[in-house]
Amino acid sequence: MTTQTTSNTLQEISAYLRTLDRVAVTTHVGSDGDAIGASAALVRLMRELGIEAVFCHAEGVPDYLRWLLPEEPLLELPPGYDLLVVDTSRADRTGVPIPGAGARLNLDHHEDNPFYAEYNFVDARAAATAEVVSRLYRELGVEIDREAAQAIYVGIKTDTGGFNFRNISPGAHELVADLLRAGVVPAEVNEKINRRGSLEQLRIVGASLANAVRYGEVLISTVDNEDYARTGAGELDSKEAIDQLRSVEGIDMVAHLREVPQGTKGSLRSESIDVGEIARAFGGGGHKLAAGFTREGMRPKEAKAELIGVLKNTKVDIGDAR
Ligand code: 5GP
Ligand code: MN
Repeated sequence: MTTQTTSNTLQEISAYLRTLDRVAVTTHVGSDGDAIGASAALVRLMRELGIEAVFCHAEGVPDYLRWLLPEEPLLELPPGYDLLVVDTSRADRTGVPIPGAGARLNLDHHEDNPFYAEYNFVDARAAATAEVVSRLYRELGVEIDREAAQAIYVGIKTDTGGFNFRNISPGAHELVADLLRAGVVPAEVNEKINRRGSLEQLRIVGASLANAVRYGEVLISTVDNEDYARTGAGELDSKEAIDQLRSVEGIDMVAHLREVPQGTKGSLRSESIDVGEIARAFGGGGHKLAAGFTREGMRPKEAKAELIGVLKNTKVDIGDAR
């Protein structure tokens, strides 16, 4: 563990990466487009430098993102490889456990990242960790080829909700223009990651929307094992509903509470309320406007009652159910 409190510079990190021989890249549990996009781009970057690079994650790679990392993912950290972690705000949320020797690199954009590696770079203003990886390409003088550009594009597209959230900047749009010049075709990427759903997934999203209840300016949706059994879909499929929940006028915060084997996993989103702080009150974390937590041993309806109780002690306007 390190006690470092300020980011390294990209120059320091680039110089350090060049000294490595064999690296294993991993990312957070429950990986999403930025987690896998940033990982795939970093694996390619290391290989371009002549360094042996693999991706490892105990959960593998979600099917809809496999095209970014087509090799069979390693489920464990291979011995003799230095661990590089991307897009992961906490050392206990990595896809493979951090070994006793520690992680070598922690590259992220979560403002609550506590700098758990030997080298750390966290830019909370970056739209995605993939955007940070693109800066490493530039720093190291490596051209972003079409494959790398697709991986970086997926990270930015997914972490900004398709260029809609408050984390998208002019710089990120300029980067996206370069990615398109490098060969990214947005319609093809959209086809690969957004048009791969099943009817079961559509139905669990429908259940998540139907179960939403409004409390003042807060909208809370719960889905549980009965919903999964009825629709034939899983808990991660249900989370796809979260952006649609945000479409209701007058809602400042949405919570999606879904049953998982340990209890309830919560996802919080807002345009103005610091939901990272609320998630931390439940032992979770994340960004100011997108955060999450897990309540062990609690079913979604209980977790909802608890969340409402906590919100009543904040400035959030939480009225009666409707
Ligand atoms: P999501 O709702 O998509 O799972 O997560 C939203 C954001 O919150 C992501 O940036 C994710 O890393 C973070 N996050 C979600 N769940 C947890 C959690 O249990 N602990 C921490 N520290 N962060 C979380
Ligand atoms: Mn991210």
